[in-house]
Amino acid sequence: MTIDTLLSLLEKVRRTGDGKYIACCPAHDDSDPSLAVTDLPDGRILIYCFAGCSPGAVVESLGLSLNDLFPDGGIAQHMHGGTPGYRKQQIQKANDIETDRLILRMAEESRKKRETLSRDDLELEKQAFLNVRNHERKRNGETQWQE
Ligand SMILES: [Zn+2]
Repeated sequence: MTIDTLLSLLEKVRRTGDGKYIACCPAHDDSDPSLAVTDLPDGRILIYCFAGCSPGAVVESLGLSLNDLFPDGGIAQHMHGGTPGYRKQQIQKANDIETDRLILRMAEESRKKRETLSRDDLELEKQAFLNVRNHERKRNGETQWQE
């Protein structure tokens, strides 16, 4: 599905940057938009609820599946195209540093509340951690950290 279709299902959508939006999360009682929606360069859509809803719960409450967040062909086809390194690079490019800092903070708060983070959340947290660390190092004039 396209990002426009997804955004049309959400409320209080606001554009926050290039391919980045924030909207009310349909999976919890959300009056202050806390769902980040990012249109990745490879056609995937990344969703992240800062209140801690898993992407699965968010799409389910819209009557969709996680498969709908991938371009035509779905997850299965996508996973066989491109190397993990390439996908990681795309995700890193798509996130800005402030979003990353927010993700790290929200993940920490979820842990304090003893909430379980889904695998998607953990992956997002890891990306955010690496992005922030690279950002700090670059700012300090060090070479970029490589995995
Ligand atoms: Zn939510």
